Amino acid sequence: MQLISTEETSRRSGLDTSGARERLPVMDNETMRTTNDYDVIVCGGGPAGVAAAIKTAETGARTLLVERLAAVGGMATGAFVSAWMDTPGGPVTEDLWCRLRRRGLAHLDYDPASHREPGRVRYHGESLKPLSLRALRDAGAEILLCTVAESAAVEDGVVSGVYVVNKAGRTLLRAAVVIDATADADIAWSAGAGYEQGDPDDGRLQHVNFRYVIEGVDRDRYKREKPADDLLVKWLQQAHKEGFLHPPTGVFSPAPELFPYHPPQAVLILESWEIEGVNPCDPVQVSRTLVEAQLAAQEVVDFCREHLPGFEQACVGRLPEALGTRESRRVKGEYTLTGDDVMAGRTFPDGITRAHFFIDFHDSPPGTTIPYSPEFKRANRPPDGASYEIPYRFLLPQNISGLLVAGRSISCDRRAQASLRVMPTCMFIGAAAGIAAAISVAEGISPAQVNPEHIREKIMTQ
Ligand SMILES: Cc1cc2nc3c(=O)[nH]c(=O)nc-3n(C[C@H](O)[C@H](O)[C@H](O)COP(=O)(O)OP(=O)(O)OC[C@H]3O[C@@H](n4cnc5c(N)ncnc54)[C@H](O)[C@@H]3O)c2cc1C
Repeated sequence: MQLISTEETSRRSGLDTSGARERLPVMDNETMRTTNDYDVIVCGGGPAGVAAAIKTAETGARTLLVERLAAVGGMATGAFVSAWMDTPGGPVTEDLWCRLRRRGLAHLDYDPASHREPGRVRYHGESLKPLSLRALRDAGAEILLCTVAESAAVEDGVVSGVYVVNKAGRTLLRAAVVIDATADADIAWSAGAGYEQGDPDDGRLQHVNFRYVIEGVDRDRYKREKPADDLLVKWLQQAHKEGFLHPPTGVFSPAPELFPYHPPQAVLILESWEIEGVNPCDPVQVSRTLVEAQLAAQEVVDFCREHLPGFEQACVGRLPEALGTRESRRVKGEYTLTGDDVMAGRTFPDGITRAHFFIDFHDSPPGTTIPYSPEFKRANRPPDGASYEIPYRFLLPQNISGLLVAGRSISCDRRAQASLRVMPTCMFIGAAAGIAAAISVAEGISPAQVNPEHIREKIMTQ
């Protein structure tokens, strides 16, 4: 069995953890317990992981979903990303859409001028948490929340389980197949899989987002009595200059416009900061950003209470459970999907999902905004009527067996990731990974030996 040492973990993360051996959980006989075996363990309960666990469990395979937060949904629920964007999502998206729509908690926007089919589903994010749990339970998946999937257990190049860390300490959970849906490829990385991250030339990453909700606002009064936009911006500039407002380090388009991205009148209920230069796999950077952004959120509310009519009783309503992350590790597979494949609407013999969202690149030079015009989208997506396919090979890390990758960290380049990262595509990929894992278990073969044709058949019929 190959285990990653504390020193190796420290070297890979770039963190100075010297002297950390006493503080970090160390595997020994007391803290390592082997619990029940599973057929399939899915690590990460975002759109991809939820879809993977549902499709695996539906086949009767004993399936466990491990999620580090207290709810499932990933970015969809934990970072307030509230719309499935303009591309097919596969069977689990359809199921969740039915569950939401039946309760009046989702609606479809479709404007052929700027959307592609099936359009954009806007949903109630908080409700997606229990409805996803219900779908997982209905499928028969077991769920383990508040648990970090820490690393892969690897024996002779084959992943045989996952070490998880939670209040019970460090535990080895065994499985025939592991699906890495952590979005950062945590498990594949720990198993030694090759990966890329950021721009190949300078390592530049797409912006992260911090979104939060302000509550207790008398919107009617604000609409009636609000100050002119230019006056509000002037006040904001002044408050910033005088040290009452501190935008988080790296905020995109920072002061003088503290509220970037939206005109001031539209922004004061759901605030969203785009932040540059944060590596989602660097815990120190992530933590610093979350601390600064939460402090800034309170400062903004204090500013609003003092200056804006209708905000006298305002307070921070909701803070995200995770930093909104668009770009992270991309695992190297047998083939790498490229931006050119996306633009050409390329199909593959082992294609298992199709997609056509535009290449949505939040990496603009500071001071610019992203032109979301219909022309811009059309110029950055497959030709009208065409979709690109995602081949099964992209879910299989090189030289490691027993492991599938699902979600935005599959084998692709930066431009391709900027299209396939949207939630419907991640759910489609997750569903395909779940079906592949179930076939692998049922037939006693490795994931690499699964016939993609069988995945395609099952994804359409199950
Ligand atoms: C600001 C922003 C706006 C966006 N807008 C849209 C939009 O409008 N429409 C759209 O469709 N997409 C949008 N996206 C993209 C989309 O939200 C993500 O790319 C998508 O959620 C990725 O799905 P995933 O399942 O791969 O990862 P995630 O949604 O990130 O889920 C990963 C899950 O794994 C968990 N996890 C991570 N590591 C571990 C671990 N080691 N152990 C256990 N659990 C772990 C996380 O807590 C999380 O629940 C947006 C993204 C951002 C950041």
